[in-house]
Amino acid sequence: MSKPNFAPTALAVALLSTLALGACQKGGDAAPGTAQAAPAAQNALHLDEAKLPPVNHFAATDLDKAKNACADFGAYVNGKWQAANEIPGDRSSWGAFDMLAERSLAVRHQLADQAAADARATGIEKIVGDFYATGMDAAKVNAQGIAPLKDRLASIDALTDTASIAGWLRASYARGEGFLFGFGPEADFKNSAMNIAYATQGGLGLPDRGYYFDKDKQDKLAAYQAHVAKVLELSGVPAADAARQAKDVVAFETRLAKASKSSEELSRDVSLYYNPVTPAQADQLTPHFAWTTFFQSQGLAVPATFSLAMPAFHQELDRMLADVPAPTWKAYLRFHTVDEASPYLSDAFADENYAFYGKVMRGQKEQKARWKRVLGAIESGAGEAFGQMYVQVAFPAESKQRMEQLVQNLRTALKARIEKLDWMSPDTKAKGIAKWDSFTPKIGYPSKWRDWTGLKTARDSYIANVLAANAFNYQWELSKIGKPVDRTEWGMTPQTVNAYYNPMRNEIVFPAAILQPPFFDPKADDAVNYGGIGAVIGHEMTHGYDDQGSRFDAAGNMVNWWTDADAKAFAARTDKLIRQFNGYEALPGIKVNGKLTLGENIADLGGLATAYDAMHAATAGKPDPITDGLSRDQRFFLNWATVWRDKMTPDYKKVLVATNPHAPAEFRAIGAPSNLPAFASAFQCKAGDPMVRADDGRVVIW
Ligand SMILES: [Zn+2]
Repeated sequence: MSKPNFAPTALAVALLSTLALGACQKGGDAAPGTAQAAPAAQNALHLDEAKLPPVNHFAATDLDKAKNACADFGAYVNGKWQAANEIPGDRSSWGAFDMLAERSLAVRHQLADQAAADARATGIEKIVGDFYATGMDAAKVNAQGIAPLKDRLASIDALTDTASIAGWLRASYARGEGFLFGFGPEADFKNSAMNIAYATQGGLGLPDRGYYFDKDKQDKLAAYQAHVAKVLELSGVPAADAARQAKDVVAFETRLAKASKSSEELSRDVSLYYNPVTPAQADQLTPHFAWTTFFQSQGLAVPATFSLAMPAFHQELDRMLADVPAPTWKAYLRFHTVDEASPYLSDAFADENYAFYGKVMRGQKEQKARWKRVLGAIESGAGEAFGQMYVQVAFPAESKQRMEQLVQNLRTALKARIEKLDWMSPDTKAKGIAKWDSFTPKIGYPSKWRDWTGLKTARDSYIANVLAANAFNYQWELSKIGKPVDRTEWGMTPQTVNAYYNPMRNEIVFPAAILQPPFFDPKADDAVNYGGIGAVIGHEMTHGYDDQGSRFDAAGNMVNWWTDADAKAFAARTDKLIRQFNGYEALPGIKVNGKLTLGENIADLGGLATAYDAMHAATAGKPDPITDGLSRDQRFFLNWATVWRDKMTPDYKKVLVATNPHAPAEFRAIGAPSNLPAFASAFQCKAGDPMVRADDGRVVIW
């Protein structure tokens, strides 16, 4: 949840239904017409496996047999692991996803070292090498201090009135550095084959509007104000002025927050992103911020329509252009300009950035090592270029073949489940099957790699490379507006430990980095693979039928394909799931938000049930290979819970419960299984056991 540094709010990311809470990074995707094989490096990239952290397999020895699986399945599977593991100081959580994320970092560390050492490198290896070499040169970064931002800060100091402020905003967007609102391309919700421009809310330093008003978050708001003052002071504002300006900045953001939608609203009503208007209509709504001028200033043709997604937010922003005094605007722009750049500036700035966003907001105990931070910057700036190197050394071809078979088996099982539903009419079922028929799976890495020609990096300056990548990526995003959607693009890099469903392309996507134990192991038996990646595949497919995904049809258009009666029957079932998750206590006095997490919980329930069916179809007629005294069915559910093993700092959990559509992992380990009779029979649980939901509370959807 750390802020996206120096980049407009990534709209596309907000619309993807991901598997897990890790921020999915949209560092790069495939561009039209750029089919290229990975270039043969002058010195072939290689990987020293012995230097990587070990993978985390499901192991029967991890089970706490003293616990009762039917009472507390989480403690039975993960209790021993939790007792034996601490959250590493430089992380705010630790579990199956984090362990693979560390492994992905370790792979990239080796690759970055090789690229940086190769002075003759060209293409993507030069980009990665330049980023890494300049980022690791701490002495040079420190010697520069804030000097790289001198011109930007001088241009803010020169602002006097509404017109000059609006002009500054346009110029910052044109450089790819806009932070006040999100702006970028996405498929037209009503015509998913074409990209249009979307302008969305933004501009807040805290993760959700609630942080500016909620009583239980006032401590974080006070800490934020102190952080704003500190950053302003570091940038050269005298201490007394900095404290006063920080108060103004917080008041400024509080106005923006009041006009903003909450995380819950945005995650549960995707249509809030879609509000097509003509530029002339938009200009009437925001008379001090002319959209026609804005499009021209970005080098874009003025479109017939674009989505002014949250008009109330933009209207308030427009009033603020007129009535907020210039000194407050200047303090706000100065703070965010420095804050977004801080991770790439000298230690004083980077340390303060960590002290607030890492320590205060996420409860992290230590700053990440420099090499990890630099790899993070490469991920944001040129992630897919790095991914092209990653899959050369870290993704075996046989993984892709095994995954294709698993996806096929899950598809078959899901179709059978839809056909058998007793609560849905034949009409709606037929539409659901049509949607099922057009799912596109993507496995490992893109079939076409993006062309990075034109991104100029060098060995002179770290932040210059970061800024060059921002500008390059922004121009690349803008180039899609008004053009047909390229369905070969990926919204995640191959080295990301996550997966997603995109409702506008009706695609399920599995990056290479998640195709490892405990999710996926080509050497493991079916029980482990279906309980891990099988359920993940089912999860992503079910997103097509969750409370948001079900609003899009087979072609990816926002169309209501439901009869009223079926929509009502669906809502009755999802209401039960909301109540189930509302009952879980994440922190003392803080419950999980069943509504915010509904789509993910629907996906977990459908995904696990479908994977179970698929496993039985795949193993039909084969004897149960009882392993370590555990049946196939037991091992299936045990690996599901292993995937969700996790420890998290209370601060980080608090942020997630307030903003993230995924429930904390401990509840995902038990939430879906407790609704499945197959779980109860696998562990011989009885009615009344905590892991057996009573019939009136048991949820069956897909
Ligand atoms: Zn999901």
